[in-house]
Amino acid sequence: MIRRYLLQDTNYHYSILEAETGEEGLALCKSAKPDCILLDYDLPDLDGLAVLNALTSDDGTVPYAVIMLTDQGNEAIAQQATQHGAQDYLVKGEMTAGNLLRAIHNAIERTMMRQIMEQQHRNLAQRNQEIQAFAYALAHDLRAPLRAIGGFAQIVEQDYRTQLDENGLRYIQRIIQSSRQMDRLIDELLSYTRLEHRTLRRKPVDLTYVVQQVLEQLAERIAATAASIIVPTSLPVIYSDQTLIQQIILNLVSNALLYHRPGNAPRVELQCILQHQDCLLAVSDNGIGIAAAYQERIFQVFQRLHSEDEYPGTGIGLAIVKKAVDMMGGQVWFESIVGQGSTFYVKLPSVAESA
Ligand code: ADP
Repeated sequence: MIRRYLLQDTNYHYSILEAETGEEGLALCKSAKPDCILLDYDLPDLDGLAVLNALTSDDGTVPYAVIMLTDQGNEAIAQQATQHGAQDYLVKGEMTAGNLLRAIHNAIERTMMRQIMEQQHRNLAQRNQEIQAFAYALAHDLRAPLRAIGGFAQIVEQDYRTQLDENGLRYIQRIIQSSRQMDRLIDELLSYTRLEHRTLRRKPVDLTYVVQQVLEQLAERIAATAASIIVPTSLPVIYSDQTLIQQIILNLVSNALLYHRPGNAPRVELQCILQHQDCLLAVSDNGIGIAAAYQERIFQVFQRLHSEDEYPGTGIGLAIVKKAVDMMGGQVWFESIVGQGSTFYVKLPSVAESA
């Protein structure tokens, strides 16, 4: 029985509903949705923790402001209750109008604040999802008209070149070049937004095989730049997501090949060390290097340090790397000396599970 008199002598007008048993209380909560529940630990049918448990939603939170009322000496249970979602507890023998009111106000306020923050988080997540879906649809739908522009420009260049003067030919070549660049941008943007909708698929991944696949994908560029690639003869098998790992290595090696100093053939070295349960991947190059000030910036979408004429690119590669690494709960960073080269590190946690 609640000591109603403790709540009556105030300026606040509470409507107080009472239940004799845990089951009755649970039914009352469902129908009346109270702002605050004063939950006695000693109930005839269930104990207070069982009631609290029944009030807990699937996401593990208790959608009510609950104050557990215990007997003297039961503080351990009371603390357990606060760990399981009760906002506060009061020892019945020590209850006064003052501490009860304060506890009720605080509990309601904190619960409301939590609910507002959860709602804001949900709104933000939903907004984010909508933006991602919009970017995906936009990128996807831009592709067809863009391919038509590029395709017809190529036809003009091939079939009508004799009818074009020098300027006309140059303009048409610029159209072809720009549409290729935009096509690449769209491809990468789609890869980036696709990551957002992906769930992790972990399995044993043979890094020797993954690196081999990447080198095959980049074979043309490796030959064209006369690059030397140094890879250990045998790399470990890690427990991870193969597609994400492949995207990470592909982007890092392809940057290492691209950002080389003019007249200096790229030298790219890949290393992998297993430390406890972590896997540390390192991709080093002897390229132009990056100033330490760009540590954060280069991992953001569309952030480039060079013009398209100097080094072609989209500014999405490292954002893909960062997103993939984040999804796996890892870290990515670089060390670099400007004018000498860079090393990109990727640390992936808890992956050293053998096949
Ligand atoms: P992109 O290469 O398409 O521009 P990235 O996101 O892969 O986009 O890279 C962002 C920027 O980081 C690049 O524009 C470049 O300035 C810099 N960068 C990335 N990798 C290297 C590297 N290995 N050496 C020097 N600069 C690099």
